[in-house]
Amino acid sequence: MKDLHVETKCIHAGYSPKNGESRLIPIVQSTTFKYDTSEDMGKLFDLEASGYFYTRLQNPTSDYVAAKICALEGGTAAMLTSSGQAASFYSIFNICQAGDHVVASSTIYGGTYNLFAVTMKKMGISFTFVDPNCTEEELEAAFQPNTKAVFGETIANPALVILDISRFADAAHRHGVPLIVDNTFATPINCRPFEWGADIVIHSTTKYMDGHDATVGGCIIDSGHFDWQAHADKFPGLTTPDESYHGITYVEKFGQAGAYITKATAQLMRDLGSTPAPMNAYLLNLGLETLHLRVQRHCENAQKVAEFLQKHHKVAWVNYAGLPDNQYHALAKKYMPNGTCGVVSFGVKGGRKEAERFMSKLQHAIIATHVADARTCILHPASSTHRQMSDQELYAAGVSPDLVRLSVGIEHVDDIIADLAQALESVEA
Ligand SMILES: *Cc1c(COP(=O)(O)O)cnc(C)c1O
Repeated sequence: MKDLHVETKCIHAGYSPKNGESRLIPIVQSTTFKYDTSEDMGKLFDLEASGYFYTRLQNPTSDYVAAKICALEGGTAAMLTSSGQAASFYSIFNICQAGDHVVASSTIYGGTYNLFAVTMKKMGISFTFVDPNCTEEELEAAFQPNTKAVFGETIANPALVILDISRFADAAHRHGVPLIVDNTFATPINCRPFEWGADIVIHSTTKYMDGHDATVGGCIIDSGHFDWQAHADKFPGLTTPDESYHGITYVEKFGQAGAYITKATAQLMRDLGSTPAPMNAYLLNLGLETLHLRVQRHCENAQKVAEFLQKHHKVAWVNYAGLPDNQYHALAKKYMPNGTCGVVSFGVKGGRKEAERFMSKLQHAIIATHVADARTCILHPASSTHRQMSDQELYAAGVSPDLVRLSVGIEHVDDIIADLAQALESVEA
């Protein structure tokens, strides 16, 4: 469906029912699949034939949804995972092992940072974190002979820093490694990183893709652009026989377009099993069908909210790339001409105490750590998730005591603004 618009793909891609079959994707709620002969099943285990044998590895419902997201991103192969965290982990662990190294943007999502800097470090994989605005020399200096990938976020959660995707892709390719981009906040509606040189895209589908607070999930998509064989010495997992899979060499057998996802499915899913429930994949698909409508509304609403906040005398600062004076406005225009996302952050005048007062007066915005779904939600880290930290420690972590993170929903924008306005009224600054 390469030539259809992304909006059309949201509805139709990934599943084409045959004569008399269900119009909506079926929920195949079954752990296992039956075969007539053990020879038939043997072919599946040898990856000689494609088909299903056990839902820990693959399930038809999940595969229909993965194929839809693959089409939205313009990739060649994709798989669902049970969470965004699992997608981040697999995307790296599929091509790295103990002794390897990865260059990552320093502004990535906190959960990803912990996964990389703490948990994967224990597995012997090391990370160098670079400021996404670093100089060319600093970026070059981050690479090591054992570097196997570069990782960044299109729009960083929650810093809202926009990654210069082409620049990071060029640096990765100069060193013979792929660029992996977490495209959760932008979604393929606003940005398709493959068009800018990224090689692998991952998502927390828990956010806009699901969009309704219903299911945790993730996805990994391969562009098919990265030539693993040309850098065979760096990626032995893809270019030499997998003894745990009957001596298959993934690149030989599945080509440049299929090797990475086949390995992640056949090896990592088999061994680690972070597979989504078929029911969750089905719910995610319902979210995807309206993704293009919701993302557009999120961005329109967020733009109006950001403009309202910027003019408000009780607001110290606003961070939203849609504002012309924002540091990332030019990058946003280049990579996301139709809008960025619905998340805005701002500072309440008077600091921590006044921000707390503002939060206590909100009537509609939901206080939640979650972001990027239909409901407007809001978080004041200094009085909730980061409350044990002093003002000094907060500044050092890049979260000022006055910072409020607002995920603008798809309610009527006048209602969202009215709620913020009445709560700001109580601020004594
Ligand atoms: C939420 C989030 C994740 C983690 O996803 P889960 O589905 O919560 O595991 C990863 N990256 C970004 C940008 C996120 O916002």
